[in-house]
Amino acid sequence: FPTEKIRNFSIIAHVDHGKSTLADRLLELTGTIKRGHGQPQYLDKLQVERERGITVKAQTATMFYDHKFQGANDIDVQEPRRFLLNLIDTPGHVDFSYEVSRSLAACQGALLVVDAAQGVQAQTVANFYLAFESNLTIIPVINKIDQPTADPDRVKAQLKSMFDLDPNDALLTSAKTGQGLEHVLPAVIERMPPPPGNCNSPLRMLLLDSYYDEYKGVICHVAVVDGTLRKGDKISSAATGQSYEVLDVGIMHPELTPTGVLLTGQVGYVVSGMRSTKEARVGDTLHQSRTIVEPLPGFKPVKHMVFSGVYPVDGSDFEALNHAIERLTCNDASVSVTKESSTALGLGFRCGFLGLLHMDVFHQRLEQEYGAHVISTVPTVPYIFEYSDGRYVGPVITLCSERRGEQLEYTFIDSQRVCMKYRLPLREIVVDFYNELKSITSGYASFDYEDSEYQASDLVKLDLLLNGQPIDAMAAIVHTLKAQRLGRDLVEKLKKFIDRQMFEITIQAAIGSKVVARETVSAMRKNVLAKCYGGDVTRKRKLLEKQKEGKKRMKRVGSVDIPQEAFHELLKVS
Ligand code: GDP
Ligand code: MG
Repeated sequence: FPTEKIRNFSIIAHVDHGKSTLADRLLELTGTIKRGHGQPQYLDKLQVERERGITVKAQTATMFYDHKFQGANDIDVQEPRRFLLNLIDTPGHVDFSYEVSRSLAACQGALLVVDAAQGVQAQTVANFYLAFESNLTIIPVINKIDQPTADPDRVKAQLKSMFDLDPNDALLTSAKTGQGLEHVLPAVIERMPPPPGNCNSPLRMLLLDSYYDEYKGVICHVAVVDGTLRKGDKISSAATGQSYEVLDVGIMHPELTPTGVLLTGQVGYVVSGMRSTKEARVGDTLHQSRTIVEPLPGFKPVKHMVFSGVYPVDGSDFEALNHAIERLTCNDASVSVTKESSTALGLGFRCGFLGLLHMDVFHQRLEQEYGAHVISTVPTVPYIFEYSDGRYVGPVITLCSERRGEQLEYTFIDSQRVCMKYRLPLREIVVDFYNELKSITSGYASFDYEDSEYQASDLVKLDLLLNGQPIDAMAAIVHTLKAQRLGRDLVEKLKKFIDRQMFEITIQAAIGSKVVARETVSAMRKNVLAKCYGGDVTRKRKLLEKQKEGKKRMKRVGSVDIPQEAFHELLKVS
């Protein structure tokens, strides 16, 4: 395939505006997947994506499309020509914008999908600027025009006023009914430029993503920027200097399809016998061994917004957890991991995430894809700004000031929408700010953030103690004014999770040596066999095993067992 016949583009949008559905339709239209393949959102492969209905990983698929140019005079009307299109579906949620910016590095254009009824939302703005800063050709796609409340003209006006996009360039589609979809790929081919690389230069390729496959080992997704890559080539990493032999190379069509070669401008996969996932560094430049090339710019380093400890429920599972985290971070390079230890929880890890949803998804993937049972500690750290709908301005301002926010900016997007920028303590928004914001604005407000400087604040450390012994994993840094109330909440909540035991247990919240809240769990023995009269041995054994299984999910602090759920539940009140 000559480079002029390749187009690499991505689909960007606010959450739920229809990116993944549109990607499905395009894959069907080109025969890449069968129509009605029974699985909506084909590219959302992870279990967590299917369960939550969101995309968290960018996914690439190669399609072939026969395009007929429709010129003004007859000479331009030609036989259809076959084009190779690489489509990258990206996540919309703010926590995964790192995935988006990485994907855009392999693209020359982007389809900016906007819901015809909802119009421009927070991540429409954030993603537009990511694409704009990468100098991509942007084609606006106003989707969901089948909805009764669709108002494409209003969306066109917003695209003009917010992004200076020509309303005449907008495509109108319904990924649901199929209306307007036939114009999408022709627009991609005619309006977006081919990749800029040079096929006669020495090989340079950008490592976009990687993951671990049980059978093949490390699989890297790459974009060939210059030159040609062939099976059997010897390649080296610019970052580590390590050399590898290319064992398999091909395209995602949409499953891994060996081709033996990748040409300039193509996006595909490479298996090269990399042993550890640490060797596959996202953003690295790979080149022919023994040739010297200038490394590609790579990616901006990630900024971690939320940190939390991750510990195995059962201390003896530490090695297994270590292994699982190594594999998973190969597929999600945006998580930072360092080992740490806690007196209550033993050996574990301190992980940095891009946001709370990112943290949640990471935990869920650890459980679902690697069978790891983990306890996570209270998330900590710095950031912020936000957008909201004009009708609901009052409650949003109240919410932000209750959360100790400072207003920085207030601008109108159009007559219906306003963009508010606040500086808020991270601590105040990290737990349930987003839900609260959604509920007071009937779901209209959308929210995005970036980190700000550290600010001086009046903070204290709130300890939780069991029988006088502090549980370090439950300690929290909180604002002085909120410490007392929070202490009460935590103590009451924890009490519900602790079973009565042979001895009395006191639960206390304290600031330094000052106890601010206290509860007691009175003594009693919990005997699972109490209800088993007579000698049914198998039933007894079953009950004891069940109890043992339950214990696995407990953490022992001193002589008191705390169930895993308590750690999760306590995070919610703070
Ligand atoms: P994403 O988060 O941007 O990837 O959005 P999805 O593709 O997952 O779509 C979100 C929801 O919108 C799904 O329930 C889709 O079925 C629905 N949807 C997508 N496109 C259309 C459309 O053109 N019309 C209507 N009515 N619904 C759509
Ligand atoms: Mg999606």
